[in-house]
Amino acid sequence: MYLFKLTGDLRAALEQEKKAGRTVGFVPTMGALHEGHLSLIRTAKEQTDIVVCSIFVNPTQFNDPKDFEKYPVTISADIQKLAAAGTDILFLPSVDTMYPEGVNGQHPHYDFGYLETVLEGAYRPHHFQGVGIVVHKLLDIVQPDDLFMGQKDFQQCMIIKRLLEITGIPSKLHICPTLRENDGLAMSSRNMRLDPAARQTAVQISKTLLYMKENIKHLPFVNLKQNAYNQLQNDGYQVDYVEIANADNLQLLDKPNGSPMVLLVAAKLGDIRLIDNMVVEGAVTTKL
Ligand code: AMP
Repeated sequence: MYLFKLTGDLRAALEQEKKAGRTVGFVPTMGALHEGHLSLIRTAKEQTDIVVCSIFVNPTQFNDPKDFEKYPVTISADIQKLAAAGTDILFLPSVDTMYPEGVNGQHPHYDFGYLETVLEGAYRPHHFQGVGIVVHKLLDIVQPDDLFMGQKDFQQCMIIKRLLEITGIPSKLHICPTLRENDGLAMSSRNMRLDPAARQTAVQISKTLLYMKENIKHLPFVNLKQNAYNQLQNDGYQVDYVEIANADNLQLLDKPNGSPMVLLVAAKLGDIRLIDNMVVEGAVTTKL
């Protein structure tokens, strides 16, 4: 595995690969890698010749500076995991490399429309603009044929799909399934910060989503959401939202309308914010 810290070096190396006719797959991450990230690497490895992973904790997407400061960093372990998973190139840029204009400099503004007004967009102002800014920069540098992202961040996948449309970048987006711990907790870098008691409680998010999935045909949505909300609150969560949305466009639903649906939860245990989702009625559509 090659490690690049500078944009020019990475571009030059990738140019050689592309000239030789090799396809490039890209997995952007913020590090503190777990099996969920590695499953994206493995999928990319199956589908493309050269797999590039980036690790960059992007300051512009953190609306809460404390969350940014506390974001786990485990670079040496990450490098070992990536090499073992067959990653060809790791891009590890500094903040100055990614933001020569300065983090608070002039950035493009993307018209994500409705998509950034709901759910994560409503609770994390500017978050998706920050995601758009950094993913756009990374795609400009790597210019991958294929881009691999996790369904764990369902709304983010929709935002990136929109970013590809807005910018005309021709990379193909692949949305990969959420990897879970044995008890059902969605793997997340933030799980590292859970103490043993919080780790036990953390499983309730996926249990609540399963409860909703099992009862979605039997209960009015308002009751289903309220039961889920109450359950999480009783477990000690501060709940941001429990929602049911159209999986194709994230329009919030108060009753079934025949579209594929996605159940979404965001809730905090102390200062650790967890999100998870489950799709109902079939897998995530390729339309997403
Ligand atoms: P992050 O490092 O959290 O920015 O995540 C990098 C990529 O890994 C994103 O596309 C995430 O959606 C994806 N990802 C995070 N957690 C999981 C998981 N449990 N299963 C599959 N993909 C994941």
